[in-house]
Amino acid sequence: MTSTPGTVLITGTTSGVGLNAAKALASRGWQVITANRSPQRAAAAADALGIPKERLQHVLMDLGDLDSVRRAVQSLPVSLDAVVCNAAVYKPKLKQPERSPQGYELSMATNHLGHFLLIHLLLDRLKGSNHPSRRVVILGTVTANSKELGGKIPIPAPADLGDLSGFQKGFLDPIAMASGKAFKPGKAYKDSKLCNMITTQELHQRLHQDTGLTFSSLYPGCVADSPLFRNTPKAFQKIFPWFQKNITGGYVTQALAGDRVAQVVADPDFAESGVHWSWGNRQKKDGQQFSQELSEKATDPETASRVWTLSKQLVGLE
Ligand code: NAP
Repeated sequence: MTSTPGTVLITGTTSGVGLNAAKALASRGWQVITANRSPQRAAAAADALGIPKERLQHVLMDLGDLDSVRRAVQSLPVSLDAVVCNAAVYKPKLKQPERSPQGYELSMATNHLGHFLLIHLLLDRLKGSNHPSRRVVILGTVTANSKELGGKIPIPAPADLGDLSGFQKGFLDPIAMASGKAFKPGKAYKDSKLCNMITTQELHQRLHQDTGLTFSSLYPGCVADSPLFRNTPKAFQKIFPWFQKNITGGYVTQALAGDRVAQVVADPDFAESGVHWSWGNRQKKDGQQFSQELSEKATDPETASRVWTLSKQLVGLE
């Protein structure tokens, strides 16, 4: 069975996985709307990778700024067939939290809250599409899934939203972490990715049956040389790709990761909703995708329900 091309919105396409997913989807015949804080840099990056201009439209959207997300959505077409929530910041060396225009800790604001709002604002557009398989795809990660070895790494700490007291207090100064505990920048990234995976599961539970939309997350493999690691120590940027290539075997190229995103968006084999797709942590030649079990932290119904309600409040939907 071949897939039907449609129109997809992808966040964060100036580099890495999102840029390569845009290329892979454009080459499958999809129209790609990119959402970035610099549409000019997005256009230049797409050009440099040889993505045909006629397949692309570039929109200004700063995921860390809820007002920017709302403004950008107004400029989008009335019907969309798929959305990829890909943009993320990872700033493990910060001493103090950075804040979004709304005052929220910036990695949670960008990686989770901006996308949470975006998806909600696009639901009607997705429901209005005639595409045979309308999908919302969210980038998760192994380091936020304690069912997997990579999710158990104690440096700086595993993802853990704790009692959600920081979330409850709204991530406003002096609060920076969902748990309300002291700021740990690397953990803030992991926590935000845990929220991405919780969101996918909760979207599936709450909305799949009524809307027919497919909600999935994925771990595309370790893209150890993507610019995501630009804010890590220089030595880490050298050693990490080597380690992932030669020791763990977890390394994937940006092109392969982008193609995996495109598969989850477009291929009939990925039509099931509520799945966290993975190809494993040690890449095997011709390795197939599978449904990766998520940790209790990502699937506990009480936590998920609270994250959903609190996120709705923080993005102004309740
Ligand atoms: P990347 O190359 O750094 O790409 C991140 C993208 O997000 C860039 O286009 C960046 O644009 C954009 N972005 C950042 N802040 C933004 C904002 N406020 N508004 C709009 N766009 C913003 O990193 P990547 O490795 O491709 O990561 C992409 C996704 O894959 C992330 O969700 C990450 O968690 C996930 N992932 C990555 C890996 C990996 O090994 N690299 C593994 C698992 C999952 P700017 O140029 O404007 O900063």
